[in-house]
Amino acid sequence: MTTSVLWFRRDLRLGDHPALLAASEAAGGVLPLFVIDPQLWDRSGPPRQAWLVRSLTALAAACDDRLVIRYGDPVQVVPAVAAQVRAETVFVSADGGPYGRARDAAVAAALSAGGVRLAGIGTPYAVGPGSVRNGSGEPCKVFTPFSRAWQRHGWPAPADSAAAVQAAGWARTDSEALPTEPDLGSIRLPAAGEAAALARWRSFVDDGLDDYAERRDQPGVDGTSRLSAQLKFGELHPRTLLAELAELGRRNRHRPDSVDTFRTELCWREFYADVLWHRPASAREYLRAEYARMRYEPPGDGFDAWCQGQTGFPIVDAGMRQLQAEGWMHNRVRMIVASFLVKDLHVEWQHGARWFMRWLRDGDLASNQHGWQWVAGSGTDAAPYFRVFNPVTQGLTFDPDGVYVRRYVPELSGLAGRAAHEPWKHPAGLPAGYPERIVDHAAERLEALARFQEIRT
Ligand code: FAD
Repeated sequence: MTTSVLWFRRDLRLGDHPALLAASEAAGGVLPLFVIDPQLWDRSGPPRQAWLVRSLTALAAACDDRLVIRYGDPVQVVPAVAAQVRAETVFVSADGGPYGRARDAAVAAALSAGGVRLAGIGTPYAVGPGSVRNGSGEPCKVFTPFSRAWQRHGWPAPADSAAAVQAAGWARTDSEALPTEPDLGSIRLPAAGEAAALARWRSFVDDGLDDYAERRDQPGVDGTSRLSAQLKFGELHPRTLLAELAELGRRNRHRPDSVDTFRTELCWREFYADVLWHRPASAREYLRAEYARMRYEPPGDGFDAWCQGQTGFPIVDAGMRQLQAEGWMHNRVRMIVASFLVKDLHVEWQHGARWFMRWLRDGDLASNQHGWQWVAGSGTDAAPYFRVFNPVTQGLTFDPDGVYVRRYVPELSGLAGRAAHEPWKHPAGLPAGYPERIVDHAAERLEALARFQEIRT
């Protein structure tokens, strides 16, 4: 039997890995390969570059230090490695994003010239993007019908791949060194890699899942899984989580509303990947074309203040500073800051999406671009533009004690409780160093609605 190549991409784990299982069943040995592709590396910001290096370090250790690292365009690199080890098949988890699909088609063509097959087995999703259809066989344009059809479609049980590869063994060839980690400045990242991801999942199931439905919207508490980067890099497969959720549901050990809500959140990730699969241009362009005609402002001083967390609106500033401190931001706050950029500053969503993609450790094209379009009103939301988040009301509702804003905006540390959300009301004036509000929210809300009216007529 010949060696097979397993080309890792967004699947940096050994457990529940159908492509690894197929490679180990087909081969005398499996050569684990990762290609540092400048097209992807150069476009990632420091948090994702650092996460990738750390995750690859963990993966290499799990592969008995046989992980082969190469640099360059996969169209040249992958066939060269396959030829070096005389592989007949290169196994991958299929990639449904616009760049990944084009790259894989080009790699498959280059491999086939040498008689080698590219086998796509599985995807980073429970249900492969493009597979879920409504009753008429059409792609789903909004979330609720998608989630029903997704549940009906179902998914296979986790693959027992870790044991299989131990039996087949790892093949060996020469490797280059991992890239150097970028300077992260003050950003602190949690531990990367499959073992750390599983440990985080365990602690969330034990300590966070029960209260998830209640606490997932409260940015001041550790109420969500914080597994988005781990899912993005494929350190965990969502099928593993869904299988355990089903088992927890059967045993009735956890609150069913929390288990259901968590499953639904995983489904949002699948929905956005499906939308991107059907509409690849939505990564850059408006899903609802009429929004391209709206009047927008170029990104100027207001945009800079937004990026730096200096807008004078505490919940917006706390979110943008959390991003700079952790490479992550709570989902509720992502919605608030995105709404502020598009509807208070009238800046196009693509500018904010680019900033997020640079600084998020979980930056993911499908979830990010469609999360932005959802908030901007131009996406898959059924109740679009006229919902304008009031940043003060949102702060008071979801961070009622001001814990979150004080954590990330130290200038507000002297304002107790709810007062931290309205520092301009403090009798002694604004705390030293904290900026005046850069806009009048009530006026900008009316301006946003007026601009919306213009594209409706
Ligand atoms: P949990 O609440 O624990 O949810 C579990 C998992 O479900 C998440 O890890 C994630 O994979 C998925 N999920 C949850 N909510 C969503 C959602 N609304 N859309 C898609 N998937 C979801 N998520 C990313 O993974 N990458 C991004 O680049 C990204 N950009 C976003 C940009 C904007 C403007 C908005 C509004 C949302 C964005 N999200 C993105 C979705 C969401 O904010 C994060 O997935 C979530 O905050 C991650 O935290 P968590 O792992 O604790 O989530």
